[in-house]
Amino acid sequence: MVDTSIGANQHGLLAPPPVGTSALPDNTFANAVVFVTGGGTGLGKAIAAEFARLGASMVIASRKSEHLDAAREAMDELNAPIECVECDIRDADAISAAFDASEGRFGLPDVLINNAAANFPVPAEDMSPNAWRTVVDITLNGTFYCSREFGRRHIAAGTPGNIVNVGASYAWTGGPGFAHSAAAKAGVKNMVETLAVEWGPAGIAVNGLVPGLFPHEDMTDDITGSLDRTHDKDACQPAMRVGQRQELGWAATFLASPYARFISGHTLVVDGANWQRRSMTNPAVTTIRDQLGRPPFDPEGYDQI
Ligand code: NAP
Repeated sequence: MVDTSIGANQHGLLAPPPVGTSALPDNTFANAVVFVTGGGTGLGKAIAAEFARLGASMVIASRKSEHLDAAREAMDELNAPIECVECDIRDADAISAAFDASEGRFGLPDVLINNAAANFPVPAEDMSPNAWRTVVDITLNGTFYCSREFGRRHIAAGTPGNIVNVGASYAWTGGPGFAHSAAAKAGVKNMVETLAVEWGPAGIAVNGLVPGLFPHEDMTDDITGSLDRTHDKDACQPAMRVGQRQELGWAATFLASPYARFISGHTLVVDGANWQRRSMTNPAVTTIRDQLGRPPFDPEGYDQI
């Protein structure tokens, strides 16, 4: 086994301040409505919490009632006003209804966090058209439909706004095992650049935010199963640690804050430089089938996912 022990003078990047501290002044979002897709689990919930801590009224949109319940519980703990809306972001009419619900309760959202996405690892040769369509439909199309709804309403009202799209670094590098999600995230990153230019004149800033490895309890079995095969996740990062979710929340609140008003069309990677890793000598290639523990491809009876 490879020795991944960390030497005495290789402590990595320092740990962040604890959850509950904020990078921005109190009440930075006191008069703001923040709409988060997929804000009842994992990183979406962590991002929502940082806006709530800074005084925002929160709208959380997702499909499952248990996720909406979890969002409500988290926002209640922070005394943040919250509107939960059951919504599948693949459905443009449902998104429109969710924005109506926000307008009815708090007003038009000032900030849209496009966080919802779908993902599961599968070798490309095993991927069914349905798997491809589902991931692209949620991650890319859903992000566009939500952005369009937000943009149309602000342009019609003549009001400014701020969009943050949560991405992934395989938008640049590709991601073996994630052909569907990597392609969709590449589209999301590209959309940031287009919309930032189209909607800048209307006062709408559009940015991307890319998490590195941020393990959390809501991760799907597919993803945790892959992570479990890494025996020391911290030692596999140049930072010598994984991300702590408040670090992503702070970055999101900064991008949507008055202190970032001249930042638009940018995608900020928060991953301790993991995506820029290179080795002096290439390690041996392990196929994605081997990494996922899948048997050799069988064109006659392959296990389509
Ligand atoms: P997660 O816990 O699986 O969250 C995904 C969320 O999206 C869920 O709350 C889910 O809620 C919602 N969602 C999925 N499909 C939806 C749909 N059709 N309509 C509405 N909501 C939908 O994942 P996560 O790890 O927190 O990831 C959050 C974001 O960070 C994603 O964009 C992901 O690509 C990105 N990211 C995460 C990591 C990481 O290390 N965690 C790394 C890189 C990028 P419902 O099931 O209730 O709809």
